[in-house]
Amino acid sequence: MTIEREAGCACGKLRIACRGEPIRISICHCLACQRRTGSVFGMQARFLKNNVRHIAGDSTLYVRAGDSGGTVSFHFCPNCGSTVYWELSGVPDVYAVAVGAFADPSFPAPRVSVYETRRHDWVDLTGLPAIERLG
Ligand SMILES: [Zn+2]
Ligand SMILES: [Zn+2]
Repeated sequence: MTIEREAGCACGKLRIACRGEPIRISICHCLACQRRTGSVFGMQARFLKNNVRHIAGDSTLYVRAGDSGGTVSFHFCPNCGSTVYWELSGVPDVYAVAVGAFADPSFPAPRVSVYETRRHDWVDLTGLPAIERLG
């Protein structure tokens, strides 16, 4: 049986249900992710759009320029403000989903860490297996 996980915003109105395992799980220390989340890094999982069973609820779009010239389109809940998922113009076949929105402490650990130059000193990833550090 294929696992299905549902991510949701703080108020529960905006939800995305994803089947199977994500194709990439990463954390990002960039300043834009810090501002977006209010935390010191963002964590996201990419799912193929084909594996997204449904998206429920209205979302408002925030589009910003990505680092490699494309755009990142964030879908956030107009009621509570949580960003739940986003689209990357350079990788059009995936949705990136905010891992915290799954509210699932058993969600798999990240395998990629990007924008390491912006990482807060105390954030220590040495316990993570096979993490790839970029930037
Ligand atoms: Zn909400
Ligand atoms: Zn980032």
